[in-house]
Amino acid sequence: MQDILNDIVKAMNASTDRGQVADYIPQLAAIDPNQFGITVALPDGQVFSAGCAQKPFSIQSISKVFSLTLALGKIGDAVWAKVGREPSGDPFNSIVQLEHEHGKPRNPFINAGAIAIVDAIMMGHEPKELLAEILSFVRYIANDNSISIDEKVAQSELATGHRNSSLAHFMASFGNIEHDVDCVLGAYYHQCSIAMSCEQLAQAGLFLVSEGTNKSTGSRVVSSARARRINSLMLMCGHYDGSGEFAYRVGLPGKSGVGGGILAIAPNKASIAVWSPGLDKIGNSKLGTQALEMLVERTGWSIF
Ligand code: GLU
Repeated sequence: MQDILNDIVKAMNASTDRGQVADYIPQLAAIDPNQFGITVALPDGQVFSAGCAQKPFSIQSISKVFSLTLALGKIGDAVWAKVGREPSGDPFNSIVQLEHEHGKPRNPFINAGAIAIVDAIMMGHEPKELLAEILSFVRYIANDNSISIDEKVAQSELATGHRNSSLAHFMASFGNIEHDVDCVLGAYYHQCSIAMSCEQLAQAGLFLVSEGTNKSTGSRVVSSARARRINSLMLMCGHYDGSGEFAYRVGLPGKSGVGGGILAIAPNKASIAVWSPGLDKIGNSKLGTQALEMLVERTGWSIF
């Protein structure tokens, strides 16, 4: 495994076409695109890493997997009254579909869906309390109490999040946001601004590898049925309107973020985190996807 990861890092470091860093969040626009890291965490506790795998980056939309998990734990199937379970086929921040579908986002991983999920789990709490809950959940599943929120990224998103504000207000007009819109958005931006390294992220994904239990720590996080369903949503919806392309090229449940990270799950085999800040046109990590493609070719881990 270490040889495979070393080969991947060598190939990625030689790449001249690294995509574009997200520039609509000013704090992310300043990130050096010449970075690449990868970690493979196995259920037996072994961890293999190469490149900048210990450097924290903004996990952005990957956090939506964790908030969905939390929401399912708190309100169960009531989640599906607020968001759907279908791929959107539209960009991550699209407002068009919301009008046709009366303010109910297609799935929990597009921005509108994730904002609705934050509203669902706020349950009358202050945004700070909810954030503490999300952060402590992430620390628990990653088994790492040093994980924190990058306040500068959160403020940068707050200052420029006109599109997300529109989505949230639009949903509120349909009655699909119950709390104060600014409070919901504040919590959403902070959740997206959690900073994690590939090593921390791969650890956090381990519960999805082994039917809801992190076998390396022995902690059961969700039931096996729930883990299976979260994986299916990641497969169908985890890469926005690039989900079909990711399934075609990589063939694993995965979730990307505009910070350039991807968490991919090879069921019963491994949790994989990659990071390279340059994105393709859809907003998914360009080299991260290539690296996962190389990894599944070498390991045969595609689920297909
Ligand atoms: N915080 C980002 C936003 O709301 C998340 C988008 C992403 O990672 O795809 O635009």
